[in-house]
Formats: sequence, structure tokens, C-alpha cells
Amino acid sequence: MGALSWLVLLVTHPLEFRILLQYWLWHDQRDVSLPGDHANTGWNRESMKKCWGFLDVTSRSFAAVIKQLEGELARVVCLYYLVLRGLDTIEDDMSLPDEKKQPLLRNFHNYTLTSGWTFTESGPDEPDRQLLVEYGNVVEELRMLKPDYLDVIVEITKKMEAGMADYAHKAQTTGEVYLEKIEEYDLYCHYVAGLVGEGLSGLFAASGREGSFMAGQLELSNSMGLFLQKTNIIRDYREDVNQKRYFWPREIWGNEKYGAAVGKPAFKEMKEMYMPGNEKQAEYVQSAMVLNALCHAADSLDYLRLLKNQSVFNFCAIPQTMAIATLHLCFKNPTMFQRNIKIRKAEAAHLIMRSKNPRDVAYIFREYAQRIHAKCTPDDPSFIKIAAACGRIEKWCEDQYPSFVQMSQAGKSQTFDQSDARSPVARALDERQRTAWLEKRREELLATTKDVVDAARTQRQQEASTGETLKYVAMAFGIVVVVSLGSVYGIMWAIDNL
Ligand code: MG
Repeated sequence: MGALSWLVLLVTHPLEFRILLQYWLWHDQRDVSLPGDHANTGWNRESMKKCWGFLDVTSRSFAAVIKQLEGELARVVCLYYLVLRGLDTIEDDMSLPDEKKQPLLRNFHNYTLTSGWTFTESGPDEPDRQLLVEYGNVVEELRMLKPDYLDVIVEITKKMEAGMADYAHKAQTTGEVYLEKIEEYDLYCHYVAGLVGEGLSGLFAASGREGSFMAGQLELSNSMGLFLQKTNIIRDYREDVNQKRYFWPREIWGNEKYGAAVGKPAFKEMKEMYMPGNEKQAEYVQSAMVLNALCHAADSLDYLRLLKNQSVFNFCAIPQTMAIATLHLCFKNPTMFQRNIKIRKAEAAHLIMRSKNPRDVAYIFREYAQRIHAKCTPDDPSFIKIAAACGRIEKWCEDQYPSFVQMSQAGKSQTFDQSDARSPVARALDERQRTAWLEKRREELLATTKDVVDAARTQRQQEASTGETLKYVAMAFGIVVVVSLGSVYGIMWAIDNL
């Protein structure tokens, strides 16, 4: 932001100015070029330097969060991102005929390990075509990765390329441009985003920064991906429709009940939603799409609670809180059908600063769920289901982080809200746990003290028995000496008297 933009913001939105200033002052970005960090970032190699450059150009919003990942994990996830971005560039390229695209997609996991492989035939309008032209850099860096990392990346690429190839083949050979059922929509999102989540969990586990069990969290990882992907698919409606890309399932947008609610037939084409006169019907479809995405929110919160590394947590949580804020922005917003909309910079900065632990993230989800619920109106056919979906998010927060328990600022102590009926029960439980803990501690101390006393007694007994033995030895020695002297004296006396 230039100085003039800051000045305009200060005058027009002083609160946003304060948030952005705070963010700018306190939020450090990792500099991957620092010499002391080369062992992790690989910046000292020309090929990796190129890859970091491609990450900045191709990922835009993800580059910053990827760089924040601890140690080498940032480089590994950067390469993982570039592989999938390369695959997606081929999938999206409408200038490639099916017979060319199919073998390219289905063999991408092999190409991605073939030294020097590049692809120069992408359409001239493909924004990320240069990545494929210089793909040899990515291959070179991938081949240096530990086998545990590489196995995850290749495995996910294999699954994703197969799914993308199936969808591309269907679209190009049958001429069917729409996804029909919600199951197809879910499956498509699984291929393009759910698998990304699975792979990330595998990489986190392989790095040792998260538990090995994370690699097996397939359902929750899938939900993390689906929540982001579905939010983007909703927000990008107009851009996608303009480019003849249709990801919304017909089962939702072509559903008769949304037409019937305004006395019209169901939509026949997706573009009808942005046409004048269809605003109310489009709004109902939009609500149903938001509802569909909201169903993944609780799984996302479950996933985030499993993480233990702060940098991994930030990496996963920030896109999720952005997603729920974006869903709220899209919900009941007719502008979404006309042009691309985005949450404001200050709102994004505020979310980044707050997405630091599972409790605060859960509170962010609850806030937006309440705001979505408040925006919904009873005339909407999805009204009850939206209320239930928002209620599930609130219930999740209340179950995991009950509102009557208040944490101190430092998070080290807790107090109970006296006016809440659950407080006496919680206090009694708390007291019982404390008593049990004290009793256990007392027993441990007693056991330790008894061990010390027993050890001292044993030592004393050993010392006493040693003294006694010495006494007997000395007495025996004395007797021997007396007897010997007596014998010598007796012999001498006998000799003298002979
Ligand atoms: Mg694509």
C-alpha cells in the first residue's frame, strides 16, 4: 500500500487503519533468502530460487502462509504446491485437445520425476504456462527430497491426475458442461482440494512436526480441502461462468423448489442467475450453496484441534477463517453474481492475527455462523437447515470451549461464570479432580518417604552387621594371640625346668 492509500484509509476507515498498522508492525514475514536459513529453504540453489519465484507468481494468497512453515517444511510444501499447480495448469488448458491432454494428465506423476522434463505447448493465455516451461527446476528439487516426502507427493499426484483426467474426458467428449449431483460436486472437490489436504497431513506427519496419526486423518483432511474449495467455487461464480466453467451442481441451482418459491420455473442454465429479474431465485440457490459448504465447518475445527505445531496450525487455520468470512460475505449478497468480491484487507489482517489457537479460531467460526444465521430470512427455503448448520458450529464451540468457563488473559487459570447453572457442577468436578490429584500426590510422597526410610535402615543394619563381624574377628584374633603366647610361655617354662 502506498502512502496515499494509507492516508485515505486513515480518513475513511480509521479502525481498519489501526488494524492494518498493527499487522504491518507486528507480523513478520519469513525471508527465505537469508543465508542462515539456506539449509532449510534451499535458496543457495538456482533451481530452488526459481521455485520460490514461481510460488510467489502462481500462488498469490498461499505464498505467505507457506513460507511461514517451520524449517524445511516450507520448501517441501512449496514444491508440493508447484507440482499440483503444474497439473492444474494442464487440466484448465482448454486449448489442448482431449487426445493430447489425457496422456499428459495420466502420466504427470512420471513426468514430475523425469529430469529436465518441460512442457511448452500450453495455450498462450494460460497464466501459469511459464511454470511448465521451466518445470525442470521443480523436478530437480523434488529429486533431492527425502523419500518420505516424495512418496506422499507422488501418491497424491497420481490420485489427483486420475480424477482430473476423468472429469476432463467427460467434459470434452460428451459435451456435458455441468456437474449434475451433489455427490459429483463432492467428488470433484475431493480430487482438486480434498486430496491436497490428505497430502498436507501426510507431509506434516513425515516431517515429525505432527503426530504420525495425522497421515491417517483422511476424512478430516478432505473436509478441510472441501471447505476452502467450495467457498472459492461460490465466490468465483461470475468469473467461472464468464469463462464457461461450471462447478455448481445442477441438483442445487436447477432445483425446482427455488423457482417455485418465487413462482418461476427452475433455472435451465447457470448464467440465468446473474440476469435481471432472477435476483430472489438466485439468492435462494446461493443460500443452498453456502449451506452445503457450511456442513464441513465442524470437521475443520476438529482437524485444527489435532495439530500441535504452531507454524502448521497457522498455515492450516488462516485459510479456514478466511473461508468462513468469505462465506459470510457471499451469503445474501447479490453483488457476488455480478462481479468478483473479496473480504476487506483489514478484515483479512485481523483474521490472520487472531487465528493462533483452536479456541480463538472456534470463536471466529461462531461469530460468522451467528452473523450468517442473523442474515437468513424465513422466506428462504434453506432457512431451517441454515439455522441447524450454524447451530452445529455454535454447539461445537460450546462443547469444546464452554462459555461459562473464562480463561485468564495469559490462559493459565480459569474462573466460572457464577450466573450459569453449569458452574456449580463444573466447580464440584474441578474440586473432585483437585482432591484426587492431592491424594495421589500425598501417596506418591509417602511412598517416596518410605523408600528413603527403608534405604537408611538397611544401610544402618549393614553397617551394624559389619561392626559386629569385625568385633568377633578381633576377639578370635585376641584368643589366638593369647593361646599362642600361652603356648610359647608354657614351652619355654617346660624347657627351663627340665
Ligand atoms: Mg482446475
